Amino acid sequence: MPSETFFCPNCRARLTKSAQAYVLGEIASSGARYIGLGNRAEHVTCPACGQAIDAQRMVRGDYDGAKGGWIAPLGIVLGIGAGIAVSYVFALPWWAGLIAGLLILFSTIGYLDNPARSRRA
Ligand SMILES: [Zn+2]
Repeated sequence: MPSETFFCPNCRARLTKSAQAYVLGEIASSGARYIGLGNRAEHVTCPACGQAIDAQRMVRGDYDGAKGGWIAPLGIVLGIGAGIAVSYVFALPWWAGLIAGLLILFSTIGYLDNPARSRRA
């Protein structure tokens, strides 16, 4: 299954594939033959940095997991772990630990996501 989003190989911005690119990727991953309408663009332009992205590789899913793929799972694990630790250490009710865990989770993801965004300027 191809991802609905991919990461710009130049600036690491998370971008959403067009419906066509997603479907083509799905067809390609199943190995089925298909008929395309019109010519496919060789390159697409990244809306964040303006660099050309190889459309064939994007459709194939080469850029799907490039970085960032591990950020969300890592953040969730850290957030849940931190939430449990906070509620245990400070003897807080479970919901306080949950809130703290979510705050840590989102700040972790925000922190790890930042270098990709700041390079845009
Ligand atoms: Zn870019």
